[in-house]
Amino acid sequence: MKHYTKEELDSYRRGTMSILGKINCSIHLRDCPQCSEILTELDEDDKLIQDIRSSIQIFQDLSAGPANAKTETY
Ligand SMILES: [Zn+2]
Repeated sequence: MKHYTKEELDSYRRGTMSILGKINCSIHLRDCPQCSEILTELDEDDKLIQDIRSSIQIFQDLSAGPANAKTETY
C-alpha cells in the first residue's frame, strides 16, 4: 500500500488535490491510521500558525492605533 506524503496530505486538506486524488486519499485515510495521524499533525500545525498570526495581528493593531485597526474575523 502506497502511503501519502505530508505534502500530498496537505494538498488534500487544502482542497488543491484533484477530485480523483481526493477520493483515493479519503479511502486511504479511512484504512490508514498512519496517514490520518499526519493529517491531524498538519491541522495542529495550522492551529499553531493561526495562533501566531492572530498574535501578530493583535500586535499590529496595537501599534497601528485605533484609527487603522481592522475588525477582521476569521
Ligand atoms: Zn497511509
